[in-house]
Amino acid sequence: MVDIEDRVVPGRAIARLTAVAGDPDAYVREWKQRTGGRVIGAFPMNFPAEIAHAAGLLPVLIQENRETITVGRNLLTEFYCGYTRNIADQAAKGRLSIYDGFYNADHCIQLLGAVDVTREFEEDTPVYFGQLETSIGSTWAIDKVQRKMAAFRAEIAGFVGHDIHDDDLRASIELFNEQRRLLRRFYDERRSGNAYFSPAHLQVLVKSGMVMDRAEHIALLQEVLQLGLSAERQRGRIKVHLSGHFCHAPRTELLELIEECGAQVVDDDLFHGTRWIAADVPDADDPIEAMALWYLARNVAVPCPTRVQHDVDWDGYLLDVLDGSGAEGLIVLMAKFCEPHMLYYPELRKALDSKGIPHLLIETEHEGMPLESMRTRIEALLERIRRRQAVLV
Ligand code: SF4
Repeated sequence: MVDIEDRVVPGRAIARLTAVAGDPDAYVREWKQRTGGRVIGAFPMNFPAEIAHAAGLLPVLIQENRETITVGRNLLTEFYCGYTRNIADQAAKGRLSIYDGFYNADHCIQLLGAVDVTREFEEDTPVYFGQLETSIGSTWAIDKVQRKMAAFRAEIAGFVGHDIHDDDLRASIELFNEQRRLLRRFYDERRSGNAYFSPAHLQVLVKSGMVMDRAEHIALLQEVLQLGLSAERQRGRIKVHLSGHFCHAPRTELLELIEECGAQVVDDDLFHGTRWIAADVPDADDPIEAMALWYLARNVAVPCPTRVQHDVDWDGYLLDVLDGSGAEGLIVLMAKFCEPHMLYYPELRKALDSKGIPHLLIETEHEGMPLESMRTRIEALLERIRRRQAVLV
């Protein structure tokens, strides 16, 4: 049987998706030239992009780039995460001037610092700090979130100079749901073991979807799906779950290294992965209410340590999904200095230890990737799992 990667990689659709994921700025410039439209830069992780799309804008989730942090070095402290320091650097170098507006929906203090730097350097471009509720377990949460979604709608309507109609918002919601449904097919097939996709290729599908015009992205995903999902199963590899890494994509070379060491990634809860696509916007008469319900549903679908909800926890979620995917171990990818993740990690470790689940923490940085020492640690984890299997047989 032909491996799915051999069939997909040379294809036109995957080449286009790979190009966009590799250089989002080039896509933004090209889209603006092609359409004459306006593009807003959204910061991760919860901006309701459907509202901007319904207003006729292209909402782009601003991605970390690969440039060395130079002029932006002194704008944020060294102990801010790589994503925020890179955003400050992009702002200082004028890389963000391709955007016509900036929108933030999240509370993370480091992210707020990066958005503030953006405002400083892009002083003629509107910047909107609209923060969605982080405490979402209470009965009043839905009301507050709904009001915030309405505020986003009003703000974006002011930006484009016209109202955003309910029907346009419903159409955008349907389009975004379709994009999520298509992306989930790849993840579901991988999880069920019916098809094999490398984590680097799945990241391309998701990352390009955070940037591209959604209709264009959907058409390309459909083209990839037409090639068929049947694929040779991976044999003799250790099945692992990749967890964490908020806001920005883990480096491709790290994802490739994990597989090179003999692991097969069968599931993840990465932001550039399952976390981004897990929840659809539900049906509701009022599309703003639907957007609010979507925001609340996201934390149930894949719990996030940047949110507080007492009846939902990330560790419990992970134990459940490990059961479902058959992953034999877990690799936590943590962006260095990501406070919400650092604070939650001890809970996570306690839960995994209590069930005897082998796991490994890898911290990532914007610069400097000690791949050889990571290789040793990943190989040690896989060896531990192999020996455990031998004992259990
Ligand atoms: S949530 Fe973590 S990765 Fe995201 S901006 Fe905040 S510190 Fe950085």
